[in-house]
Amino acid sequence: NENAEYLVSKIRTIPGFPKEGILFRDFMPVLADARAFGLLLDALEAALPVAADEFDIIAGLEARGFLFGPALAARLGKGFIAVRKAGKLPPETVSESYDLEYGQATVEIETNIVHEGSRVLVVDDLIATGGTARAAASLIEKCGGTVAGFSFVMELVGIGGMASLGDCPTSSLITMP
Ligand code: 5GP
Repeated sequence: NENAEYLVSKIRTIPGFPKEGILFRDFMPVLADARAFGLLLDALEAALPVAADEFDIIAGLEARGFLFGPALAARLGKGFIAVRKAGKLPPETVSESYDLEYGQATVEIETNIVHEGSRVLVVDDLIATGGTARAAASLIEKCGGTVAGFSFVMELVGIGGMASLGDCPTSSLITMP
């Protein structure tokens, strides 16, 4: 429909960024446009992978999950957890490392931010391989929380990212090659 088309029209595609061979999807123009930003939050809310009363808090992945995760959390009357890249948070932290195409990355959260038994909705702008989302899920589980679902703005198809998240409920608004 017209709203969906408008939202998608604000996503920019940049070939060869940040390195050759990558087709980068940029959704900053969505946030810069009041109508598109509102539509994005409406769509995320409408497409929640589980009902709002089935999770307690939203965790956003650095950095683009920080841009709309808190706005969605505020709409739903939830708190927000920042899942950060290694070295940004003061101690004590819990960390989880995962493999990238070349090398490794580590994500962290502060201890005591995730409460025992807390049900967490994980949000990010884009899922490709799912490595980042899986690392965030492991981190939440290490802290005694459970992942209630994963919500993404964009999903790159043909890489198996969503399938790698197993049985956990997922949603994505836009599917892209
Ligand atoms: P994955 O771990 O699923 O392979 O990659 C997802 C992570 O990489 C997300 O945190 C996402 O922000 C980032 N990412 C990978 N490719 C793109 C892209 O084309 N556009 C944007 N905005 N982020 C990307």
